[in-house]
Amino acid sequence: MSEQKPSVGRVVHYVSHGTPNGEYLPECRAAIVTAVDQYQPAGEDDRFIGHVDLCVLNPTGMFFKQGVHQDEGDGVLEPSDFRPAQCNGLSHKGGTWHWPERVS
Ligand SMILES: [Zn+2]
Repeated sequence: MSEQKPSVGRVVHYVSHGTPNGEYLPECRAAIVTAVDQYQPAGEDDRFIGHVDLCVLNPTGMFFKQGVHQDEGDGVLEPSDFRPAQCNGLSHKGGTWHWPERVS
């Protein structure tokens, strides 16, 4: 799944930032890919995924976010990631995107 490359128009999950005191928790939001960074650093194979630009759809409004990095849930959490979002049994940092779980 993580080897899939994003493309314009695909729907992914964007993880919202929670608030430090936990009034708002990070949550998965639907987001449409509006642009994909095609830059591929030397040494990376073609599975490399750069950042994407997203149109994030919240239940009460939407916003645009550029330069969002993927976090498929196996990354190392920073101390500032006080409470990651749980999605499909994995932890995801706020401010990142990942593929939604498949519902069969
Ligand atoms: Zn999710």
